[in-house]
Formats: sequence, structure tokens, C-alpha cells
Amino acid sequence: MKVGSSEAKEDVAKFYNGSGTVRVAGKIRDRWGGNLHNGFWHDDTDDAPPEVATDRLTDLMIERLVPRPGQRVLDIGCGIGKPATRLLRAHPVHVVGITISESQVDQARADAVSNGLADRVTFGHADAMRMPFSDGSFDAAWALESLFHVPDRDRALAEAARVIRPGGRLAIADFVLRTPVSDVARRAVERITTTFGVHSVSSLDDYLGQLSAHGFTDIDVTDISDNVARTGTLLADAWEDVRDQLVENGNAEKVDAMITATRDFSNTPEFGYILLSALRV
Ligand code: SAH
Repeated sequence: MKVGSSEAKEDVAKFYNGSGTVRVAGKIRDRWGGNLHNGFWHDDTDDAPPEVATDRLTDLMIERLVPRPGQRVLDIGCGIGKPATRLLRAHPVHVVGITISESQVDQARADAVSNGLADRVTFGHADAMRMPFSDGSFDAAWALESLFHVPDRDRALAEAARVIRPGGRLAIADFVLRTPVSDVARRAVERITTTFGVHSVSSLDDYLGQLSAHGFTDIDVTDISDNVARTGTLLADAWEDVRDQLVENGNAEKVDAMITATRDFSNTPEFGYILLSALRV
């Protein structure tokens, strides 16, 4: 099963800009630590709160990136810049972050200034499928839960391969579909894809094939599905708590659909999750 739609980009921007529907990041920002991604829990007894668990996932991605001093790192789908901030604090690198949401750019820029990092990071509005950068202009790139939104992942990976210099690294955190997908799961996957603008999710094999085709080698994959599985439940709980603030102008049905779909993440084992790193030949 593969999901894809050319309508996706505008939907995704709308989703994150919060225009008219739900203001996704803002309302639970404190609770989620500004990260727009899953948390990582070591095991069932691990009771780290989401803001700690989501930072852990960023740290695992930083390890995969192996950043060297002075390097230029591209953040594909940077959200409000929290992962980039963590990377910048841990390593003396420069980061360029792109997102399809204008309001995220504003927020990320403002935070970079208040964090005293503005001289080492720039955020801009750009599409992962058509990046405004010259060939080989980055030492490394990461995509932290952004590629599943992109209507044409193959094209985004081709762009990543183009802008990363030979010998540079790519790190990805993303969902993969674990097959076979049962009928119940298929319905959940559909709810998730419609609600969250998930437009490029496929089996791991398809993913690996695309990476190889675009000149990535030494591909290393870690399946952390079990470690992130709690996220859907915790996020749905967080949104339930602020439901009254999210509901406006008759959008209650949408908000409730979002909460249900969020729980589906935790209840649908077919929705797997991987961390991946690769070398640009
Ligand atoms: N990496 C961030 C944000 C993850 S949310 C974090 O972990 O906190 C997904 C991000 O992907 C959002 O910033 C969204 O705007 C971005 N995105 C989705 N489609 C995109 C596209 N076609 N081009 C660039 N960014 C995109």
C-alpha cells in the first residue's frame, strides 16, 4: 500500500499554518517542548514526559548526522526550529532550515533571535521537492518527520541527493508501513493520511530502493516503532485537554477526527517508524 496525492503540499501548509482549522503546534507547545515529532521511550517503565522523549529523538538523529565543526547542515521540514536549535547547541555547525509553512518560518526566526543563535541559522519557506540551493552546497541534511508529508518523496530524495555534497550524510526519521496491512489498519491508515497530510508512506523496501536509486549508500536503518508507539496516545490526550481552545467556527468535527486519528498512531502497529542514515556517494 502506498499513499500519494499531488494536492498534498497546500493541505500540509494549511495544516501547519493553522488557517481556519486547528492550530496544531501552538496550543500544546509547552507540553511538547516545541518539537513536532514523536518521543522515544526506552521501555514500558520509562516515564519520561513528552518534552524529554521528543528531545531524545532529536539526539538520536544528531548521532546519525555525525556533524563536524563548521559544517553546513540542511534541515528539511524544520518545523518551528526546535530540533535545529538542539543541534546548534550541541555542535558548532551552521543550519539552514526549510518549511512549507510561513508561520513556522516566523516562529523559528523569532526563537533563533531570542536564543542568540541567529548568526548560525537561517529559516526559509521552501519546498523539499524544489529546493532553492545549488548542487553540493551542504555537508549533511536531515529530515525529521517531514518526508511523509511530501507528495513525491522520490523527488524530495533526488533533491536531497543533489544539494548534499559527495561524501555528505543524510539522516531521516519517518514512518513506514509494515505489511501486510489488515483491513482495520487500512482504515486507520486512511484516517491518519487524510487528517495529518501524510502523503508518502510506503514499505521500508520501497524507501531503501529510492535512496539507492538516488546515489545513497551505507544505508543504516533502526526500527524504533516500539519506542515511539506511546506518542499517539499522549498527543491525543494533550489535544483532548485543549479541545475547547481548538474548537472554533464549527470545526468540532475536524478537531475530533484529528484526536481519533492521533490515537490511531498508537493503535496501528502497521504504522512503523524508522531512523535511517546514509552516505551520499
Ligand atoms: N522537523 C520538525 C518538524 C516536523 S513536522 C520537528 O521535528 O519538529 C513536518 C514539517 O515538514 C513541517 O515543518 C512542515 O511544514 C514540513 N513540510 C511538509 N511538507 C513539506 C515540503 N513539501 N517542503 C518542505 N517542508 C515540508
